Amino acid sequence: MQEDLIEKLIEQFRSLPGVGYKTAQRYAFSIIEGKTERAKRFANAILEAKEKIGFCKVCGNFTDKEVCSICATRDRKIICVVTEPKDILSMEKVKTYNGVYHVLFGTISPLEHRGPNDIKIRELLNRVQEDNVQEVIMATNPDVEGDATAMYIAKLLKPLGVKVTRLAQGVSMGSDLEYADEVTLSKALEDRKQL
Ligand SMILES: [Zn+2]
Repeated sequence: MQEDLIEKLIEQFRSLPGVGYKTAQRYAFSIIEGKTERAKRFANAILEAKEKIGFCKVCGNFTDKEVCSICATRDRKIICVVTEPKDILSMEKVKTYNGVYHVLFGTISPLEHRGPNDIKIRELLNRVQEDNVQEVIMATNPDVEGDATAMYIAKLLKPLGVKVTRLAQGVSMGSDLEYADEVTLSKALEDRKQL
């Protein structure tokens, strides 16, 4: 019975991305060997995050408020467009960026039957017009779908008189924002090209 409970805990850790069996085992032992208070804090943090964190109604970022702290405090004239909420965390490694974000929640993908209406493009166009935005930086991943989505959106934005740029290819072809380090991202942002 006791062994089963340990296995059950190990399996939970293993279900997380990038965690293999050995690491999961170390995590499980660390919880079991640690104080009860710590285990409670850990479990509560998971539950509380799951219950209270949703999406910012402006940009789509993760937040426990209606509007995220980035939208509330930063320059709304520059919008950086990303694919997923977690990409915001990656871009935030670039400390010099003071604009806001827009999450598309996917890319245009004919293979997966996802068209322009299935991602948050209309919401982006609305923001650009309402907030009198000056520049939109396309930071979708540098792969086929990311590039095609960036080009599609650039075409829609140009008639609105807004400058549209794309992160430079410092982020190596085919790799996700998630794996780019701060230096690479800063350079990619600095060297962004007009679309
Ligand atoms: Zn926001």
